Amino acid sequence: MVYKKFIEFVQALYPERKPVFLHEPCFIGNEKKYVQDAIDSTFVSSIGKYVDRFEEELAKALRAKYAVAVVNGTSALHVSLILSGVQQNHEVITQPLTFVATCNAISYCNASPVFVDVDMDTLGMSPDSLEAFLSENTYIENNKCYNKRTKRIISACVPMHTFGHPCKIGRIKQVCDKYHITVIEDAAEAVGSVYEGKPVGTFGKLGVISFNGNKIITSGGGGAIVTNDKDLARKAKHLTTTAKISHPWKYEHDQVGYNYRMPNINAALLCAQLEQLDFFIENKRETARLYKNFFSREKSMKFVEEPKGCKSIYWLNAIQLADMETRDEFLKTTNESGVMTRPIWTLMNRLKMYKDVESYHLVNAKKLEQTIVNLPSSVRI
Ligand SMILES: *Cc1c(COP(=O)(O)O)cnc(C)c1O
Repeated sequence: MVYKKFIEFVQALYPERKPVFLHEPCFIGNEKKYVQDAIDSTFVSSIGKYVDRFEEELAKALRAKYAVAVVNGTSALHVSLILSGVQQNHEVITQPLTFVATCNAISYCNASPVFVDVDMDTLGMSPDSLEAFLSENTYIENNKCYNKRTKRIISACVPMHTFGHPCKIGRIKQVCDKYHITVIEDAAEAVGSVYEGKPVGTFGKLGVISFNGNKIITSGGGGAIVTNDKDLARKAKHLTTTAKISHPWKYEHDQVGYNYRMPNINAALLCAQLEQLDFFIENKRETARLYKNFFSREKSMKFVEEPKGCKSIYWLNAIQLADMETRDEFLKTTNESGVMTRPIWTLMNRLKMYKDVESYHLVNAKKLEQTIVNLPSSVRI
């Protein structure tokens, strides 16, 4: 039957891997050399050449002006929200279909998320849903957008590029500009993905990337903030390094800062990973092509393809099944056979911390929540 064929197909994609994991890191470049060098230098912590080098190289790879390396993607989101002016009792629009970090970072600012629907083709925020929500439920006063019902300021919007597939970020940006809302891209899963010829993470005022162990490139734990704004880049660096005023010996800090900087030893690992990003992307796109080909013969399973006009890194491959029962059967059969598959996230508005949050017609999100499954997607060597 079809599940058996699928299991054999995945085992052939990843021979000698038992079980076949969802996403394993891949260290086949200069990782050991650079990490050894960082250790030998004794600069393993808050200063050292690899952090600066990584920031320069990441910015170059994404054709952005600046990148600031931090301890993880969640802290990158937190600081980006602060720098966008998100304050206590503000609201921040995001999507219900995301990893919990997106919403948690909003909560760290004592702000509240508002959920709009996602698109079926991108799995990311729907600009139509966003625009409909804003036109029905908000008004503008003194260049600020207010929620009619709560009278609270909506200061930012955080669309997320699900599994590496770019959402319709061009239109989202247009809509947000019209309503005086700052866009922060959660590009945690999509470093290297391209929307209409431009890398994602560079459309919003700030873009956020994660280098957690399961992402396409990793520093063990790590993240980055990307921006074209010199002043914001400077502030991001300042806020993530305890807001210390630069001085040869004096300890002086001019605001409540955060200890969010990426250690040099992690940056060393990451410099080696970044050298291989293009190879990883091509490798993963080839895997996606093989999956697509396999599923083209299976009517009951729809492969999630990169949206039109985009180049996706296919961080995690995904399929859509007919309904929840079929999905559960698929998850059970594959996991019991040593092929790791996972359902997409539980919608954020179902989690108890976010159950009372405003949600706007989450039709597609509900359908996708029940039917999307992730497939093994590690780099193949
Ligand atoms: C991984 C991820 C994050 C958080 O990154 P960490 O480095 O784990 O803190 C945020 N948002 C999304 C969508 C993610 O997938």
